[in-house]
Amino acid sequence: MINIPKGTKDVLPSESYKWNEVERVVQVLRNKYNLHEIKTPMFEHTELFVRGVGNSTDIVNKEMYTFLDKGNRSITLKPEGTAGVARSFIENGLFNETLPLKVYYITPCFRYERPQAGRLRQHTQFGSEWFGVDSVEADAEILMLASDFYKSFGINPTVLINNLGCSECRKKYIQALKNFFEPQIKDMCPDCQKRFETNPLRILDCKVEECKAINKNAPVITDYLCDDCKNRFEELKKVLTEVGVNYKCDSMLVRGLDYYTNLIFEFVDEDKKLGQNALGGGGRYNNLVEELGGKPTPVVGFGIGIERLLLYLENKGIEIKNNQQLEVYVANATNNLIEIIKLTKVLRDNNISAEMNLTQRTLKAQFKYADKIKAKYVMVVGDDELNSNKFTIKNLEDGSQTQVDKQDLIKYFKG
Ligand SMILES: [Zn+2]
Ligand SMILES: [Zn+2]
Repeated sequence: MINIPKGTKDVLPSESYKWNEVERVVQVLRNKYNLHEIKTPMFEHTELFVRGVGNSTDIVNKEMYTFLDKGNRSITLKPEGTAGVARSFIENGLFNETLPLKVYYITPCFRYERPQAGRLRQHTQFGSEWFGVDSVEADAEILMLASDFYKSFGINPTVLINNLGCSECRKKYIQALKNFFEPQIKDMCPDCQKRFETNPLRILDCKVEECKAINKNAPVITDYLCDDCKNRFEELKKVLTEVGVNYKCDSMLVRGLDYYTNLIFEFVDEDKKLGQNALGGGGRYNNLVEELGGKPTPVVGFGIGIERLLLYLENKGIEIKNNQQLEVYVANATNNLIEIIKLTKVLRDNNISAEMNLTQRTLKAQFKYADKIKAKYVMVVGDDELNSNKFTIKNLEDGSQTQVDKQDLIKYFKG
């Protein structure tokens, strides 16, 4: 037998309704927020992610699925959703269309990670990116969108927010970090020693205990913000309070990707019992489009891992309702095949979910089957019923039985 590759997962028929519900929620938000879907390929030229995600990130250094195709091109399965969307925005000249452009996607992403709870080598992301706006309103709305998504599943995680400042603030802050780390960098992990050279900001992200201890006393970005950045962040906080987004400031939050500027955020659950629960995150990346060769265009967006969300809901004991129920099982007690098929078709033509007997089962076995698949009604079709045009309908939920005339069937099931 051939097994599923490590770090991947089947969505089985018995649980796919959860995915259908995620998609339904996204459709509802698409309408409410007037978003448009964008679909980009599963793989791109490796160069896109090296430039777009950043050379100093773990994703690019350790986790990408990169291979040479038969034409000797270096190809990478997309490790995240944003870079491909930004590439498409530039390549298709979407900056010439009406801005802001608000897009969303649900896409598989691929990262070679050590498989552990909630971390898969193929996972699915729901993301939204808003191009061509750089305002407090846009920052607030993108957080409201993500927050509405979570609320649709009955949860309200805290969003940690931080401000990495504009390039001016950032320059000053990075210098301050360098001054702080320089005398003690030799006591930090090899990864941090590398980061000290390439991107000192990411030292703050380190999970190694010795590094975490040193990081506790590191300078915080909030002390290096220019007045504009400071005021804007204050205004955002005011808006979030007004609209009921559950936020907390976290000056240690830096996130793993290189492209963030100004706002960054991460949705976390503070339920200590379930351990660390980063549910999704994002921020503003005003330099990304330019970095990839496009006209400078501000962007704000987020990505939410769907498998992780579903696992989290399960751990929390929050059930997703299964909205799919078979209305009518048409049981077969006649050899008149054509009439059975036609009756089932009439039901479906009237938008009633219907299934007919496809087997050689006895009537009794058909009832058992209908019970197992949780049909709401069983309609028995035998020669007597076809002659009299009266059908016996059993309600499997309460056990009651009713005789219904053929011309009243649709009204009965719809009523
Ligand atoms: Zn600034
Ligand atoms: Zn470290």
